[in-house]
Amino acid sequence: LQEPQLSIDPAMRGCSDTSLTTALPREKGVILILARNSDMKELMPTLVNFEQRFNRFFRYPYLLLNEEEFTEEFRSNIRDSLPANAAVQYDRVMPSEWNIPSHQNATHFRESFARQAKQGVQYAGLESYHNMCRFYSGTFARHRSLAPYDWYWRLEPGVTFYCDITYDPFRFMAIRRKVYGFVITIKESANTIPTLFRHVQNYRYAQHMTPSSLWPFVIEQGALTESYNRCHFWTNFEIGDLRFFRSVSYQNFFKALDDTGHFYTERWGDAPVRTLALALLAGREKVHYFEDFAYNHDFFTHCPRPKNLGCNCSCPPESSAHWDIDRNEQHSCVPQWRDVVKR
Ligand code: GDP
Ligand code: MN
Repeated sequence: LQEPQLSIDPAMRGCSDTSLTTALPREKGVILILARNSDMKELMPTLVNFEQRFNRFFRYPYLLLNEEEFTEEFRSNIRDSLPANAAVQYDRVMPSEWNIPSHQNATHFRESFARQAKQGVQYAGLESYHNMCRFYSGTFARHRSLAPYDWYWRLEPGVTFYCDITYDPFRFMAIRRKVYGFVITIKESANTIPTLFRHVQNYRYAQHMTPSSLWPFVIEQGALTESYNRCHFWTNFEIGDLRFFRSVSYQNFFKALDDTGHFYTERWGDAPVRTLALALLAGREKVHYFEDFAYNHDFFTHCPRPKNLGCNCSCPPESSAHWDIDRNEQHSCVPQWRDVVKR
């Protein structure tokens, strides 16, 4: 792949004239949305926003997945939220991909949900949430409908982008040989992952692995023994190279974690799993921080700083209820990220 304009600030590429960037070839990329029928109302404005800010320029196809059948009402509302020429595909997540694996002890798992919930572990009382985290941790990459694609961009109901994205991030990542892109990085709640890091360490030692140059990003600095600082890429936004996530090395890592049963007896999230996998298997140069994107999901917002990094931004004012995660040092892992990229 050749990129004639790498010297131009990538954030501004296409901002003044999208015909420069939209004329370039597309990657085999897809916009991936896992959703329930009940997510419809939250998903519709997200699609309108995503089209306005990005996809009207690039026309990447959408893939919507659900372990239940999408209703006619859902499909027709999605249709109405998108331009007529949008490519939209629906598919099921099969029970074998979604449910507690049949060789594992579902009764034992289910008994633990109430105990976890009582201990205040967020969402741990919901079997479906455990299923979702496990699916996005590994199974998703091998879904039949993702087979034609090299890249996915995960989109969740309810999210908002506040700047135009006028270059193709798939192409950007392909040219730079990235495997993963994020916009927000924060710390995971400790009570969801009591033994995750120990299992990752065990896997590393058993496989005689040397951790990658991203490893220091996840390690508590200045601690006496190696421990997880709980930094993770917030996976509700992510752009990933499916060839990496389908690879034997990623899938073996996922399988080793899955075999512990702790996607259920604890409430391991796909975000810390993803991040620890990258820290073992991919170097820091494989991960890209899309600092020029502006994004909100639930309580956290990222807006480009300095402001001229983004394109046509309309970020919420700094005094608004959406607080900017980069400025909240208790939660944000941007300092850790900056540390590791300048090493
Ligand atoms: P949070 O972001 O951690 O609060 O979790 P969400 O509730 O937003 O779930 C993450 C993603 O998985 C979103 O895209 C949801 O629409 C989707 N999701 C969560 N639970 C389910 C489920 O039981 N079934 C389906 N089909 N999608 C789900
Ligand atoms: Mn969400």
